[in-house]
Amino acid sequence: MKKRLFGCLCAAALLSLLTPSPAHAALPKAASIPGGVALIFLGPVVPGSRQPRAWLGEQQVLVASEGGQWVAVVGLALDASPGMHELRVEVVGETQAVPFKVDAKTYPEQRITMKDSSKVQLSASDLARVEAEIEAIRRLKQHWRETAGTDTAFVLPAQGRLTGRFGVRRFFNGEPRSPHAGFDIAVARGAPVTAPADGTVLAVDDYFFNGKTVFVDHGNGLISMYCHLDQTNVQPGQAIGKGQRLGLAGMTGRATGPHLHWSVILNGAMVNPELFVGSSTRSN
Ligand code: ZN
Repeated sequence: MKKRLFGCLCAAALLSLLTPSPAHAALPKAASIPGGVALIFLGPVVPGSRQPRAWLGEQQVLVASEGGQWVAVVGLALDASPGMHELRVEVVGETQAVPFKVDAKTYPEQRITMKDSSKVQLSASDLARVEAEIEAIRRLKQHWRETAGTDTAFVLPAQGRLTGRFGVRRFFNGEPRSPHAGFDIAVARGAPVTAPADGTVLAVDDYFFNGKTVFVDHGNGLISMYCHLDQTNVQPGQAIGKGQRLGLAGMTGRATGPHLHWSVILNGAMVNPELFVGSSTRSN
């Protein structure tokens, strides 16, 4: 779904405020569905002019330049309701609402049997731990660090067969659980896991469900997350380059076998990582 906004952008051009232009980068594939990414065109890039800023609800949204256009790259949460939504766009202090449509999407179901029922039926102390971790992860997902540009053309963080698709509605031992908000790459324990793009390590932790986990902040609300790692090799605050190793794959936390679980977070929403890796994604 593409929307164009021209009206108030001329003022931005005339004022020629000093803001560095973000590097040109391939945008993710557009999919205006829950768990997808909407690309909303905001008007032409004028050299030297200030880039527009945009918000979805309270969450600031990545704005990139592509082919001479400003484009809001909007992450849509899996629980986003189909129908019309509104992006708030600000250009030189002037705010405008830009409507866009989210289409319905039904993701497939998957039923998983866990032999270790302690990872399905939680004890009171595990439940308290999980609730605290959910809150910590919620805060990390909302992290915003403004950077001059964000590389959204990701390379795969591990080499292997894609075994778990994004959005699948899961049932563990017959009980409904949250949908699969990432994708799984089958890799041997100890296989290297690398950053898909430049960034800064946002957090390193060991969670009940996700196991040893690294978050990488790519700037402007784009964050990636790597779970079930056997080892982590990075520290929070550390700069990391595209293709640089951040850890080794494993099966820590709730995992039925060694694999990398990879999530991509955009403006606080878990979105389909496949939209960021282009034609290099292998489905089998
Ligand atoms: Zn997974």
